[in-house]
Amino acid sequence: MNANKLNNSGREVPLAFGVGEKAAPTDRAGLTPRNRLLASLPQEILASLRPHLRPVRLPRGRVLCEAGDSRWRVYFVESGVVSLVTGDRASVTAATVGREGAVGGPTVLLGGGLVCGRYQMLVPGSALVMEAPQFRIALQDTLDFRSLCEVYTQAFFVQVLQNLACGKLHTAEQRSARWLLMCDDQTEDDACELGADSLAAMLGVPPSVGDAVASRLQEGGLIHLRQGSITVLDRRQLEATACVCYRIVRHYYERLGDHYYDRPLAQKNT
Ligand SMILES: [Zn+2]
Repeated sequence: MNANKLNNSGREVPLAFGVGEKAAPTDRAGLTPRNRLLASLPQEILASLRPHLRPVRLPRGRVLCEAGDSRWRVYFVESGVVSLVTGDRASVTAATVGREGAVGGPTVLLGGGLVCGRYQMLVPGSALVMEAPQFRIALQDTLDFRSLCEVYTQAFFVQVLQNLACGKLHTAEQRSARWLLMCDDQTEDDACELGADSLAAMLGVPPSVGDAVASRLQEGGLIHLRQGSITVLDRRQLEATACVCYRIVRHYYERLGDHYYDRPLAQKNT
């Protein structure tokens, strides 16, 4: 891919930084991405994309894109967790995105050219941002990049579908364990800055139900709750508690590459 071509052929006016977005203190020239999609690319392709990636910090609650947006940019998530929520007053969390993925362009690959749902920071973090024109050109010019984004988009779509079934078929405790494992995979931090109220919102249950489930998991020694953060203590037990949806969705993401997640499955054959 030709860097000059990328610079000169964009037709859209690049969007300015959104409210709450600030450049993260990263040396763009020497960028080593934590984002799994970018890190999976061959070095020469990553080198051609680097000039078009801009680091930003993303506080909790920041909306990255809204349903119906036709002007979008791509956020390759470096840290934190983004939730895809649908609905107005009674929002439902349809999917989450962390270091394993991206928001914006890859989901637009599903067709229509419009963003579906609202993507909002659930756990504060950072991302590398690419504007839409450069993303489109990279997809056209670089087969490896396009293939990666297509496989990612399929995995993301599976997550949305599985969440739909999960909400109908599995208990709040099973679903809590599943969301917590996903957050642990997506952040790969010791403690996830996710309050019990956020857990309830992800489950679509009243806060009292979310609190009760989180307390049971803590009493069982699976997690540790602190003000505004949850630490996973026992992945093996959490995997045993989680519904099958966790493994189904993870399987599709692991098609993106061996060792796609730092966290190995504690139980291989269940
Ligand atoms: Zn489930």
